[in-house]
Amino acid sequence: TFRALRALKDEAGLRTEFQTLTPANLPPGDAVVRVTHSSVNYKDGLAVAGRPGVLKSLPMTPGIDLAGEVVTDETGTYTPGTPVVLTGWGIGERQDGGYAEYARVRSEWLVAIPGELSAEWAMGVGTAGFTAMLAVLALEDHGMTPGQGEVLVTGAAGGVGSTAVALLAAAGFTVTASTGRPQEEAYLRSLGATNIIGREELPLLKRSLEKERWAGVVDTVGGEALAGAYASTRTHGSLAVCGLAGGHQLQTTVFPLILRGVNLLGIDSVTCPAPRRRTAWDRLARDLPPVKLAPLIRIHPLEDVPALAEEILAGQVRGRVVIKVASG
Ligand code: NAP
Repeated sequence: TFRALRALKDEAGLRTEFQTLTPANLPPGDAVVRVTHSSVNYKDGLAVAGRPGVLKSLPMTPGIDLAGEVVTDETGTYTPGTPVVLTGWGIGERQDGGYAEYARVRSEWLVAIPGELSAEWAMGVGTAGFTAMLAVLALEDHGMTPGQGEVLVTGAAGGVGSTAVALLAAAGFTVTASTGRPQEEAYLRSLGATNIIGREELPLLKRSLEKERWAGVVDTVGGEALAGAYASTRTHGSLAVCGLAGGHQLQTTVFPLILRGVNLLGIDSVTCPAPRRRTAWDRLARDLPPVKLAPLIRIHPLEDVPALAEEILAGQVRGRVVIKVASG
C-alpha cells in the first residue's frame, strides 16, 4: 500500500484527503514510477483548492509533476532504478499525478534526469522551470540574442518568473523583472535581474503602439500586463506567452504584429513533444545547476500541499516549492 493525496467529491462538496491506495488503484500505463518528489505549480493550486477546470474527473490524485525512479517499464526503454522526471501530459488533470508514492504512466512521457542530477533538482525546476526554459528557447529561436536590449519578465517572483530570470541571466540577457512584491527586489537581483519594476510601473495599453522598449518578453501574467508589454515590444522582438496569473483576456490590436513584425509566441508545456523536452532538460541541467536553483526552492512534505495550494493562488509563493513525497 502507499499514500496519496486524493481530490474527491461527496456530500461535503469538492475536497481533498489523504488515502491509502494499492497498485490496483493506479490508472493504466506501461511504466510504474516510485515517486520521491513532486512540486506545487499554480495549476496544482487550482486543482487542490477545488477550483473548477483542472481536474477532468474525480476522484483524482493531483500533481502535474513527478520525479523518482522507474520500478518497471514494459517497453524496455528504462531499466528499473533509472531516475526520471515527468511534467504535464495530463497527469494531475486527466489521470493520477504526482501527489502519491507510486504512479503508473506512459513510458514515452518520461525523461531521464540528465547527468548526476537528483529528483529533488528536477522538481525544483518542475513544470514552472521547464516552461520558463521553453519560453527562453522560443525567444532565441525567433532571433533574440544578448545585447539587443532589455528582456521583460512579468510575475517575476513566482515559479515561472523566477526561473525565467535565472535562465535569461545565465544566457547573458539583460533582465527587467516586474513584480507586485517590492520586498523581493534583493531576491530578484540575486537571481540576475538588472532592473526591477513594480507591477504598477508596467506600461499599459493606452495606444496600439507604445514606445519601443522590450527586446523580448516572458509573460506569466496575461491580461493588461501582456497587452501593455506587447504594445511596447521592439521591432522584430518576441513575447513568449506562458500564463494568466493576472487574467486570461487579451484586448489589443494587430498593429505590433504588422507594423513592427513582433512575434507573439504561445508556450504549452503540457503537450511539448519529447525531443524538445530533452533539449530543454539538457539546457536546464547546464544553466540552472543545483547551486543556482537552491535560492529559488523550499522543500515541504506532502502533508503541506493543501495549505500551499491556497498560498500559491494568493500570489504568496516565492520561487518554487518542492514536495517530498516519499515518507521517512
Ligand atoms: P506562481 O508561482 O504563483 O507565479 C505567478 C506570479 O504572477 C506571482 O508570483 C505574482 O508574481 C504574479 N501574480 C499573481 N497574481 C497576480 C495578479 N493578480 N496580477 C498580476 N500578477 C500577478 O505560479 P507559476 O506556477 O509560476 O505559474 C505562473 C503562470 O503561468 C500561471 O498562470 C500558470 O497557469 C502559468 N503556467 C503556464 C504553463 C504553460 O505551459 N503555458 C506552465 C506553467 C505555468 P509577483 O509577485 O512577482 O508579481
